[in-house]
Amino acid sequence: MRIVLLGAPGSGKGTQGKRLVERYEIPQISTGDLLRSAVASGSELGREAKSYMDAGQLVPDEVVLGMIRERLAEADAATGFILDGFPRNRAQAEALDGVLAELGQPLDVALLIDVEIDTLKKRLLGRLTCTGCGAVFNAYTNPPKTEGVCDYCGGELQHRTDDNEETISARLEVYDAQTKPLIDYYANRGELIRVSGLGEIDQIFNTIVTDIDARLGRGAG
Ligand code: AMP
Repeated sequence: MRIVLLGAPGSGKGTQGKRLVERYEIPQISTGDLLRSAVASGSELGREAKSYMDAGQLVPDEVVLGMIRERLAEADAATGFILDGFPRNRAQAEALDGVLAELGQPLDVALLIDVEIDTLKKRLLGRLTCTGCGAVFNAYTNPPKTEGVCDYCGGELQHRTDDNEETISARLEVYDAQTKPLIDYYANRGELIRVSGLGEIDQIFNTIVTDIDARLGRGAG
């Protein structure tokens, strides 16, 4: 199963993507996570990406595309994948079509997690990510049991450096201008599933799975 997750920053792509990994046993490939690892490792790619990320702007397409091509060629992606945060603009979407055509692995579903802008800002300001296992919490809407500590692995929770008010506004503007048009791109091809990203995480996940399984003609279970 090959899925693209669409949705603004803070819509829940990362959180729902992690659950989809367990459900469908395919890897989640997050360009944001790959870029953050590159930044942390101090590689040349990381150094190039950092200034764009700190400003809330998109990292140049050729950098991201090179990374994605390599990642999709790895063995665990052969049976499918969940793309989280990629594609982010039309050029990336067209490039992805090209890569998938080469691999003979067309996309099954583009899943849009729909959340309105005021909710997104609040979620992003409160977002906390586990440095150990990557689980995502929210200081306002989904707090950990113990402050600063991951419920699942006991790891330390951190606030992402680009989750500050100024960068959040830039990221939401970039989403509106460059990524939102991809909703029509996939809808026009009949590949779009739209779910509301408001409400309980479990309930949203159930809706997602029901809709995906119905679309792909899979039974429940
Ligand atoms: P994310 O974790 O998906 O919110 O991404 C964090 C940041 O990484 C974004 O604000 C961009 O600067 C960069 N980024 C992630 N994915 C992409 C992409 N597909 N194209 C360009 N930049 C990206």
